[in-house]
Amino acid sequence: MTERPARDDTDVLGGLRPEQVRVRFPPSPTGLLTVGNIRSALFNWAFARHYGGTLVLRIEDTDQTRNTPEALDYTLDALQWLGLTWDEGPGVGGDAGPYLQSERMDIYAGIVTKLMAAGKAYQCYCSQEELDDRRDAARDAGLPSGYDGHCRELTSEQSKVFVDEGRRAVVRLRMPDRPIVFDDLVRGEITFLPENLGDYVLVRANGYPLYPLVNPVDDALMNITHVLRGEDLLSSTPRQIALYEALAEIGIGSGRTPRFGHLPMVMGSEGNKKLSKRDAGAGLDDYRTQGFLPEGLLNYLGLLGWSIADDRDVFTLAEMIEAFDIRKVNSNAARFDQKKCEAINAAHMRMLPQDEFAARTVPFLVKAGYLPTAPSDEQLAVLRASVPLVQERMDTLGESVELLGFLFAGDDFKIEPDAAAKVLAGDAGTVLEASAKALKDVEWTTAAIEAALRASLVDGLGLKPKKAFGPVRVAVSGRRVSPPLFESMELLGRETSLRRIEQARVKVEH
Ligand code: GLU
Ligand code: ZN
Repeated sequence: MTERPARDDTDVLGGLRPEQVRVRFPPSPTGLLTVGNIRSALFNWAFARHYGGTLVLRIEDTDQTRNTPEALDYTLDALQWLGLTWDEGPGVGGDAGPYLQSERMDIYAGIVTKLMAAGKAYQCYCSQEELDDRRDAARDAGLPSGYDGHCRELTSEQSKVFVDEGRRAVVRLRMPDRPIVFDDLVRGEITFLPENLGDYVLVRANGYPLYPLVNPVDDALMNITHVLRGEDLLSSTPRQIALYEALAEIGIGSGRTPRFGHLPMVMGSEGNKKLSKRDAGAGLDDYRTQGFLPEGLLNYLGLLGWSIADDRDVFTLAEMIEAFDIRKVNSNAARFDQKKCEAINAAHMRMLPQDEFAARTVPFLVKAGYLPTAPSDEQLAVLRASVPLVQERMDTLGESVELLGFLFAGDDFKIEPDAAAKVLAGDAGTVLEASAKALKDVEWTTAAIEAALRASLVDGLGLKPKKAFGPVRVAVSGRRVSPPLFESMELLGRETSLRRIEQARVKVEH
């Protein structure tokens, strides 16, 4: 570890020892993780790992209409694929569980009862219509338009009248009548004035506990020390702070208000509006199916609001952990640039050791039907030997299918119609016939294959290399773009190469 100036960390840690840091990633499992969600997860993970603290994975699944068990599995699987490990949470356990909010409903109900008994929260019987009318009137009068505190001081007689009328109550938090000020780790000091902070709803009239209740309650019960999350949640922060304070006053939870750091918004490629989950490239799945490396994707997401150094974009996750500093996170919105994301991923593709590179392409070749689920040693040997031919030119693992599939195609081998039409025409038949003859008895090495084909096609037939080797390339690889031809033929073997050349020759004739 490099030495970091002590005062910096003291400021961030606020008196905690580094290993006491506890952060959380609280996804709502809806079956989609966006790059924005993952960027939040990544920054929390890097923060926890940097200090040797704890990352809690908490599943915010109280909304039973939107959250399903499948969506939970999907979320866990996605985080595992990314390598964003958690120290407490589903599948891991921990002292602060359960970590699924749907299993904590009794806890929330008990806490609401206590908050009401202590006068920190109260029941509100206002109908939506009444609220709307009073809000409009307040607006017309130029007054703040939040909840007006109408039911703050109801007597039990007044409540009874409402109940007898058949009304059902929501529960509201009694907000303090003073500004709420906090020192955001990213944005500095932020002040919210009380006139903009009406008493807000914790529990719906049907008893359903809302996000502004359960999220801070769990932060308090799970002893969360730092909350790093998107800036879109900034407006809920003063309300949450009031709730942490109310909980502390009645002795619930850690008694601590976490320190906040609001991460800059991730904007779409145009840079003018927030990246929406419907935008191209917004969801994780595209990256997984295209064969991005998790470390490449995370490296790029790490650049959305943070940088390791002015002149450096590519880094490993270990380097990110080492260097991550929440105070260096920029408060300006970050623009999502898919081209750059691809370029960063490509850089990580180049950094992979060859055997690792080969191993990571296997699932893609299996999925495309080129390799069996358990490839043979021979197939794996060919795959490994092909890595030096393609590693520099592949930007994603998925490209292995187009580039390397022909090495494993067997009887299913097909020539792309477009390549056949453009290249296996004219005098290609002559070229292929000469190639077959030249290769028949040659020693099967890259150098000998190349020498034989050059002698026969370039010197013998007087063809330009492009004209000479184009038909051979299409014949053996099925495509106009392939890994280097002679190396590919060596890997493919004499028999298969010659068979494909002959098949292509027949095709030209017809
Ligand atoms: N479940 C919330 C979300 O996914 C959590 C937000 C937070 O970090 O407080 O938006
Ligand atoms: Zn009311």
